[in-house]
Amino acid sequence: MEPDWYAEGAAHVWRPYCQMKTAPAPLPVARTDGARLILEDGRELVDGIASWWTACHGYNHPHIRAAVEAQLAKAPHVMFGGLAHEPAYRLARRLADLLPGDLNRVFFAESGSVSVEIAMKMALQFWINRSVKGRTRFLAFRGGYHGDTLATMTVCDPEEGMHALFAGVMPSQVIADLPVDGPSEAALDRLLGEKAGEIAAILVEPRVQGAGGMLFHDDETLRVLRRLSDRHDVLLIFDEIFVGFGRTGDLFACEGAGVVPDIVTLSKALTGGTLPLSAAIASEEVFQAFWSDDPGAALMHGPTYMANPLACAAAGASLDLFEDGGWKADVARIEAGLIEGLGPLRRASVDVRVKGAIGVVEFPGTVEAGDLCRKFADEGVWIRPMGKVVYLTPPYVVSDAELAKLTGAMRKVLG
Ligand SMILES: *Cc1c(COP(=O)(O)O)cnc(C)c1O
Repeated sequence: MEPDWYAEGAAHVWRPYCQMKTAPAPLPVARTDGARLILEDGRELVDGIASWWTACHGYNHPHIRAAVEAQLAKAPHVMFGGLAHEPAYRLARRLADLLPGDLNRVFFAESGSVSVEIAMKMALQFWINRSVKGRTRFLAFRGGYHGDTLATMTVCDPEEGMHALFAGVMPSQVIADLPVDGPSEAALDRLLGEKAGEIAAILVEPRVQGAGGMLFHDDETLRVLRRLSDRHDVLLIFDEIFVGFGRTGDLFACEGAGVVPDIVTLSKALTGGTLPLSAAIASEEVFQAFWSDDPGAALMHGPTYMANPLACAAAGASLDLFEDGGWKADVARIEAGLIEGLGPLRRASVDVRVKGAIGVVEFPGTVEAGDLCRKFADEGVWIRPMGKVVYLTPPYVVSDAELAKLTGAMRKVLG
């Protein structure tokens, strides 16, 4: 039996990323707990996706909940224009301490896409403020994904990136192959040699291109990008919205790779999956281009719910949990479990790959997601295929038994 809210609302809700006429009906969730979704009909599913990679500490973590409840009693929200509050100021300080180099200036927003837009705007205005003309485009990579808003659509993979329909609608960017070997590095070097005068920044998802297909690259690629950015004098933006907060085994990919970008974006796991929050964090050099007696040099941006105190309190509590440190062992444990549990699928697929708490099985073409979701739910797990890949990104608190249930369901349904 469906609950009444479900039938009554279904005619009015516009759902994400689906042809609603043909897509299977979504599963009604009653509550969440740890690594589990509890459905309205009482079924429990182990969550293999962690709600789009957000719920890194598991759902309803008591420490995060207590921090949000305490803040709710004090001040759920105040505008950030002209007012300051402790959760945001403490969080900015802690993020600056945790990030490498001089990534010291934290600009808060409410979603990942918006933080990428802000990073892009910072990069464009960095050059304008320095009176350098013509730096109006971005260089991004095939396989990349940076969001669904208009400007971020232009830096996604032009064919695979879900937004091919809009080709020609927005200004085109320079899209290149990631420099993963000598020839591709030389090609990118040449491309930058021709086009650097038009380019404000290079934009990349470090270590793992997520929504574009869970594609992995080595840290050497990131070092090459830093070198080429310096050589051709363009800014380097790391979009760590997916990989940030431990997903690849280091708290941040930039820190793990030993590469300091000029701007980094964070969101998804920033609040431990509790509330929407994002940040674009700039280096001192980028910030200095805005620091001036000229009001015209200021960054004119300020989302209404910027630095929402509840979200910042949740993020602070999430950082406490990262400081307690169990996550690193958990990610290593999950990595081992994924390698073992997904390995046998090598025979039934094009590729099986694992990095940190990310396990990926790739197929030759787009997989029929709706059908598979239902089969997975019948096995007691929530797994949602994406394009050519079926993947697991469980919460770090997933137990060994729950992880075995996830990989077992993958083997049973896909094997
Ligand atoms: C999810 C994601 C975004 C967009 O974040 P939203 O909060 O969905 O707007 C941008 N970049 C990367 C790498 C992402 O994974």
